[in-house]
Amino acid sequence: MNTLFREIFKSDIEHTYKAPARINLIGEHIDYNGGKVFPCAIDKYITAYVSTRKDKELHLFSKGKDLKVHSLDNLDFDEKMRWEKYPLGAFYILSKKGYKFPFGLNIYYESEIPVGSGLSSSAALLDLTVFLISDIYKFNLDRKEITLIAKAVENDYLHLKSGIMDQAIIALGEKDSGMLLDCNLFTYTYHDVNLGNYEFVVLKSNKPRSLVESKYNERVEECEKALSTLKKVYKIDKLVDLSVDQLNNAKVILYDDVLYRRVKHVVTEVDRVNRFLLALDEGNILELGKILDESHLSLKDDYEVTGFHLDSLFQACKDSGAIGARMTGAGFGGCAIALIEKEYFPKFKKRVTTRYLELTGLKPDVFEIKIVNGVSKIN
Ligand code: ADP
Ligand code: MG
Repeated sequence: MNTLFREIFKSDIEHTYKAPARINLIGEHIDYNGGKVFPCAIDKYITAYVSTRKDKELHLFSKGKDLKVHSLDNLDFDEKMRWEKYPLGAFYILSKKGYKFPFGLNIYYESEIPVGSGLSSSAALLDLTVFLISDIYKFNLDRKEITLIAKAVENDYLHLKSGIMDQAIIALGEKDSGMLLDCNLFTYTYHDVNLGNYEFVVLKSNKPRSLVESKYNERVEECEKALSTLKKVYKIDKLVDLSVDQLNNAKVILYDDVLYRRVKHVVTEVDRVNRFLLALDEGNILELGKILDESHLSLKDDYEVTGFHLDSLFQACKDSGAIGARMTGAGFGGCAIALIEKEYFPKFKKRVTTRYLELTGLKPDVFEIKIVNGVSKIN
């Protein structure tokens, strides 16, 4: 790596950092509704190799793309920016908070996280950049601050309405644990994900996500609209405060089938998060599988964020003997997770690949995962 690095930057690597991808196990589209989600960090990484510069320039390189050069004196957002808007946004938000950068950096990014597949390559890139900045300039940011700065880049620099989940789990993830994260209060607890002879696997649909941003924003707005109507009747601050028992009445109050189904997904998904944690504690694998299936069907029929490819992937998992499966991430393409017996993985991979190919004409990528720690320095 150092030879490649030298070729581009004419200096040696001084620091190396890595940030993981993430999957969400349960609690989908709950973050911006103020509820609890249960993601974990997985062993697919983006790595940053860094050296310091004598001038005040940022030289940014990502494998497979061109070198981008920017002055630290002008970090304003510009429509012409490509991928470099993510790292530049991190410098921008920190500078607005009063942090000073007395010298520039050379950064070489190399990633094994598929881009735009719902494993959150963007939050990994952001957390990684904020983390390395904090280390190199000695800002001593803790992992909660790193999360909030990375989120501010997405919200205030890139103008995306994303919640806090992705940045939080990539900054704060712990090995072999899921993180039960309250997205409203930004509080969290860790829970062992010990499945014995079973495991979660990830399946990439290889359908590029489309319309994600507009559809995502549409769901956010629908939930806001439903909340404002329901607030007139119920004493609630967030949609997730509504109970399953109140759903029937909500149907009458909303008087709008689409809004009702959005609310129904949110309320039942909150219930599924609670049941999922119980089932984990009890080691009840069949119940975990059942909850995954229910979550997928709710995202398909009520929240309508799956689409043909994710539904076919779900079907292929079920037809290939998965105990449970569901889409993970925002949806509209991207990835699914499935719960299977570890020993069965080679057969499952073969079967699910054939079945998905039959249904869609596409081959999925299917891989086993380990649950790992959040962003870290390597040396
Ligand atoms: P994801 O679900 O993977 O987070 P997004 O659309 O939110 O999908 O983010 C993908 C964007 O993040 C890319 O278009 C690119 O701008 C940026 N990105 C992610 N990984 C890298 C990388 N290794 N190098 C450069 N840019 C990256
Ligand atoms: Mg993203």
